Amino acid sequence: MVEVGHFVSGGAPLLGEPPPIELGNATYAVRGQPKDGLQSVEHLAAWLRDIRPRLGIRLTDADIHHITDSDLCVARELRDTIRALTAATTDGRPLDPDAVATLNRHARQTPRWRELRTTPELHMTLRFAGRPVEAALATLAEDAIGLFAGPLRHELRACHGPGCVLYFVRDTPRREWCSPGCGNRARAARHYAKLRQETRN
Ligand SMILES: [Zn+2]
Repeated sequence: MVEVGHFVSGGAPLLGEPPPIELGNATYAVRGQPKDGLQSVEHLAAWLRDIRPRLGIRLTDADIHHITDSDLCVARELRDTIRALTAATTDGRPLDPDAVATLNRHARQTPRWRELRTTPELHMTLRFAGRPVEAALATLAEDAIGLFAGPLRHELRACHGPGCVLYFVRDTPRREWCSPGCGNRARAARHYAKLRQETRN
């Protein structure tokens, strides 16, 4: 049984980005020091608990309490792969074929399909084989494929806030930072750099 009570997002920041980008951001920095937001099953459980309203697969508390070391390995590999592909995209580099193959392998891990239901009224439901957490991670990989192949890839940006290593999808043409906090730190850094310059002159 995984206890997640005191963990917030496994320690990783959630910015309201598309879920695959949030997973990629589970490597972050605090005051310039790199942090791994998925070091333990507790971290992964807390991350999934906090992002589950935005996931295609519904995860119950019981699903989250039974996360395994194997789920952690899958999530970490997927996180690192999404991060590498995001970095290449934002740098304008070609995507590494091995990273692409790894992403595709994650997407086909758990079969998922939609079913038509007629009661209480016509609706569609998403079904999957296997464990919900495995299906949720495979869906994150599939969502990442949609992101890298679709128009949003042109809006992917690396945050250039001081010491920040996060990525975001630019939702307005003027957005430069992952968060208001990074924008404030960047403006303060510019301000002090200008002051130092003026003192020297
Ligand atoms: Zn930032």
